Parts: sequence; structure tokens; C-alpha cells
Amino acid sequence: MENRFGSILIISGPSGAGKSSLINAAKDKIGDYYFSISTTTRPPREGEEDGVHYHFVDKESFEADIRAGNFLEYAQVHGNYYGTSLKPVREALEAGKLVIFDIDVQGHAIARERMGDLITSVFVTTPSLQELERRLKSRGTDDEEIINKRIQNALVEIEYITAYDFLIVNDDFEKAVDSFVAVTKAARLKKGRKQALQFVNQWRGQTPS
Ligand code: 5GP
Repeated sequence: MENRFGSILIISGPSGAGKSSLINAAKDKIGDYYFSISTTTRPPREGEEDGVHYHFVDKESFEADIRAGNFLEYAQVHGNYYGTSLKPVREALEAGKLVIFDIDVQGHAIARERMGDLITSVFVTTPSLQELERRLKSRGTDDEEIINKRIQNALVEIEYITAYDFLIVNDDFEKAVDSFVAVTKAARLKKGRKQALQFVNQWRGQTPS
């Protein structure tokens, strides 16, 4: 069955678990997809570019977008707003693409409520809390206070694993990439309710009477 309408893959997991590295390493192996660039009020880290890693905005502008109903979902993570804009996601879905969101567990819950029939989800984590701490420290991008915030948040986030379709423990990176590629293939096969019903109508029309 041709997947004319697209589908959504949500990837979540603690900061430092390697979500971005996984997506980057898999990008040439997963075919055509649209990566949803989130909007955030968090200041850019060194090397991050506006419109590439995030759309960086101030709080007033983010709150105006909330009031205008421009977000599919948004949440406060580590004290900053993060949100997924609805319009580009709709366009990519209408173009039949796989849309990948790197969002937190709160955003996953909201998106599931709104578009659950299109969503496949995967939780990515390190093998242990100690390993997460080690990776956050060696990344060298955040100061101790921020690292502590991320660790406290990870302790809460990990409890949401049960809400996800798949779990990838990012221990052996090559294996994790292979697993992620497999998950993207499964996600592409997911069909929305509307699309399934359309297929049923079409299929009945083609059945000899
Ligand atoms: P970071 O500041 O490390 O880039 O991201 C912090 C957290 O925010 C990560 O867990 C990431 O998945 C999450 N995040 C990024 N964009 C969004 C978004 O649009 N919505 C939600 N709910 N979470 C997001």
C-alpha cells in the first residue's frame, strides 16, 4: 500500500543520550524525510545556527505563537519553552514524507493525543544514569548547574519509557544506528485512520462483483 499521506516518528530521551548523533548518522540510510525544526526560547549553544538547529526566539514571540495556535505541541523543558510548529509539519505530511520530531516526553504525550494514529515513537537512552552523567560532562557544552538540571530531568523522563513503541539503549553506537534505521522503516509503514479508510473504499471499488 502506497503511503500517500506521511507519518511521524518521535524520538525522545534524556539530553546527552545521543539522539542528534543517531539521526545524523542514519540520515543517508533512511530515505526522504523532513526533520521538524523546533522553536525555542533557550539561547543558542556554540555552533548552533538559527533556522538550522532551532528557531531561536524570545519569550514574548513564543507566547504570541501559543496564543495564535501555531504549535502542534509545546512544553517547558529545563526552564525554557520548546515547540513544534504545525504548518511545516502539515505540509510535509501532505507531501507524503516521514516527519521526524526530536521532542521531550511531554510533547510526545500531546502529539499522541492529537495525531496518534500517524505516530511511531522511540525512546533513546544511555545504559545507565552514571553513563549519562559522564557523557554530559565530557560534551563540555554546559556548565554544572545545567548538567544537574538535565540529570534531574532525565530521572523523571525515564519513567515515560512505557509510553513509547521502541527503546534504543545507545551503548554500541553502530548497533543503535541500525536499530534506528529499522524504526524509521516501521514508522513509514504506519498509516493514519483516514488513509486506511480511503484504501478500504478504493479496494472495495476494485473488487469484482
Ligand atoms: P536541548 O536544549 O538539549 O536542545 O533540548 C532539550 C530537550 O528539549 C530535549 O529533550 C529535546 O528533545 C526537547 N525538545 C526539543 N524541541 C522540542 C519541541 O519542539 N517540543 C518539545 N516538547 N520538546 C522539545
